[in-house]
Amino acid sequence: ISFEKHKSGAVPGQRQNSMRFVDEAKIQVRAGKGGHGCVSFRREKFVPRGGPDGGNGGEGGSVYLRADNRLLSLYDFRLKRLYEAQNGQPGQGSQCDGKKGTDLVLGLPVGTLVFAEGPEGERLLADLSEPDSLALAARGGRGGKGNEHFKSATMRAPRFAQPGEPGEELNLRLELKILADAGLIGLPNAGKSTFISRVSAARPKIAAYPFTTLTPNLGVMIDEVDPDKRMVIADIPGLIEGAHAGQGLGHRFLKHVERTRFLVHMLSIEDVDDVDPWAGFELVNEELRRFDPELAERRQIEVVNKIDLVDEERLETLKARAEADGRKIFFISAREEQALEPLVAELWRLRDELARHEPLLPYEQEEAEAGEEFPDIEVIYTRE
Ligand code: GDP
Ligand code: MG
Repeated sequence: ISFEKHKSGAVPGQRQNSMRFVDEAKIQVRAGKGGHGCVSFRREKFVPRGGPDGGNGGEGGSVYLRADNRLLSLYDFRLKRLYEAQNGQPGQGSQCDGKKGTDLVLGLPVGTLVFAEGPEGERLLADLSEPDSLALAARGGRGGKGNEHFKSATMRAPRFAQPGEPGEELNLRLELKILADAGLIGLPNAGKSTFISRVSAARPKIAAYPFTTLTPNLGVMIDEVDPDKRMVIADIPGLIEGAHAGQGLGHRFLKHVERTRFLVHMLSIEDVDDVDPWAGFELVNEELRRFDPELAERRQIEVVNKIDLVDEERLETLKARAEADGRKIFFISAREEQALEPLVAELWRLRDELARHEPLLPYEQEEAEAGEEFPDIEVIYTRE
């Protein structure tokens, strides 16, 4: 498989800088039934035995799938599972055809792969990699012919009509691969999950104590001015001392950090002392370095969190110290939502600088990477 042919313009090098998560849902789609054809005969004054005039039944509505830029996740499809288009109306006398059932157009996030489940397993039904691309999922049943349709020289008064056909019905598995732009790292309890929950639309789990969050959480940040502009931030938990040696929980996750474009490194102000205030950053950076020297070179935004726990004077002292040490550190309180704007602005700035935003990949490219060592991680959504 050559990478040039892919519509997205993604190249393998770019691919390696992205982290991948999988969001999944199973739904059922049902197209509308066709309306029955009608048996009817003309009745007019002075025409005692009129000819057949039963109209055709209307076609059942079909179910279409459309890639919608505004949708972020498959979360809603875990709540509602059955999606039905309208039935066609039956035909009527006086050659009136029944109305066609209304189609159902189901919006799915751009990048969703749609698999149809059948007796012989799954087949790929649609790859919604382009915004607004449209795919037919279930075709509406044909309407039955009315008795007028069946009249002929030999059969002048057919007393039958055709029934409408049932609509197609399919079980679909939806799969959305999400690539993260930024990886959020730091010591346990720094406030990473809290930060993600404050700046993004997806609400990850928040742990009150270390080591409970075993899977990375995902947040999608949406630009206030342009909702089409979005950034995926992955909360990578469990980066602890010894992780590089495979001792801690962090080892597994370090592999995933490798695929982000840049890192947001968060440190709790509780872990900042006067003697060596940035030792917490260094500790985690040392882990990164030992695991993969290149990873340690990845761009980082340094953040000190929980400034609500200290007074103004202490905060000013730390800010001065950061400046003196030549570090551009953002001081925030994630929980109290203090001073988040400059940090968020910096995230956007860096994202735009580093990435031609290429969040999703066409199906073929995923296939090309089958057998790679990085497993997919299921996205876990938690709603407040
Ligand atoms: P993580 O391990 O880095 O994901 O940290 P969490 O987001 O789970 O937060 C750990 C603890 O710190 C939780 O009890 C949070 O409520 C608390 N926390 C997070 N942000 C702040 C903050 O800005 N100020 C204060 N005082 N507590 C915070
Ligand atoms: Mg966490």
